[in-house]
Amino acid sequence: MRNKYSQYGFDTKAIHAGETPDFRDGATGDVVVPIHLSTTFAREKVEEPTAGYEYTRSLNPTRKALEEKLAALENAKYAFAFSSGLAAETSVILALLKAGDHIIASDDLYGGTKRLFNKIFNEYKIEVSYIDTIDILNLEKSVRPNTRLVWLESPTNPLLKLSDIAAVSTITKKEGLILVVDNTFLSPYFQRPLSLGADIVLHSSTKYIGGHSDVLGGSVMLSDDNLYQKIQYYQNAVGAVLSPFDSYLTLRGIKTLGLRMQKHEENALLIGAFLEEHPNVRKVIYPGLKSHPQYDLARKQTTGSGGIISFELKGNIDNSKHFLESLHLFALAESLGGVESLIELPALMTHASVSKEEREAIGITDTLIRLSVGIENIEDLITDLKKALDTYL
Ligand code: PLP
Repeated sequence: MRNKYSQYGFDTKAIHAGETPDFRDGATGDVVVPIHLSTTFAREKVEEPTAGYEYTRSLNPTRKALEEKLAALENAKYAFAFSSGLAAETSVILALLKAGDHIIASDDLYGGTKRLFNKIFNEYKIEVSYIDTIDILNLEKSVRPNTRLVWLESPTNPLLKLSDIAAVSTITKKEGLILVVDNTFLSPYFQRPLSLGADIVLHSSTKYIGGHSDVLGGSVMLSDDNLYQKIQYYQNAVGAVLSPFDSYLTLRGIKTLGLRMQKHEENALLIGAFLEEHPNVRKVIYPGLKSHPQYDLARKQTTGSGGIISFELKGNIDNSKHFLESLHLFALAESLGGVESLIELPALMTHASVSKEEREAIGITDTLIRLSVGIENIEDLITDLKKALDTYL
């Protein structure tokens, strides 16, 4: 058994893991873990930190509770909570790579991750090859003597392409590489990459895990002791940890993760079906629809398709802007995974930091729209979309 909560179902873990009431002498039996704001912890004896706590950057009781809950959700032995998804990515790469190392990554990664790789880590002589990780032979051919990591997003952002995580892991295991999967889009409710052979799972917990668009965070889950030691050292040494208050907000958000994900998916399936029928929509991309080219793979490696839908409008970029600006319930905003529905134009918003040539090469056109479907009443969401779609051209 990898995790002490692994005998429980997902929702039980989401509620109880890391938050067992404390009945020891002087403790108060809180059912919700307190927010421990203290940055330092006093001790009675010089060489004996109280219950292992010394300084909040190294270990904090509220963050520890969250880390236990995060580990339980991915069925991992360990988890780390960072101050953002990008802080988590930075700490993992610093912990595991050195100058001269090479990463193989999916070609339509989140724009901020590409910027981190291309503009920051490139300065430190870490090379990245972006490839279509759907093609396993291509992946195998891209491995170089200095390759250390394979970095996948599945589904990718915003084209919702899937990689066969189990197939990729047979290559990474054979070649002695570390497989990192960014699981932000599906959350552990719908996909558990560690059980498919990944070594590290990473989330922008700003998204579904937090779930309410009010807390920034990043999480890393893994079960390998050696990788854990390395990342733990860097979490403290780099210092990009999640604050106690943000840890509390994330703990609170997680309790309804299962319920929220079910409703996100239920709404997304209905919106996907509606969009497919609308004459002003050229194409709908959603792994839960039979029209998705990797529908079968989605059924094999995930238990649901989440709340993100991408679609192409008919018309040009000005028509797209007009459409986006005429919606009422879908907030025109970056980010995703909150209870409220959001809509955005990747070419001018989330992926503006990716060059136009690169965007076009991978299929992020000027009329590609990304929806983060919230958990509002579906009839209201469809009415809002229908009004805008009927009139934007
Ligand atoms: N990974 C994915 C898939 C994302 O969508 C994002 C942000 O949108 C990140 C990582 C970065 O996370 P954060 O914004 O929390 O730093």
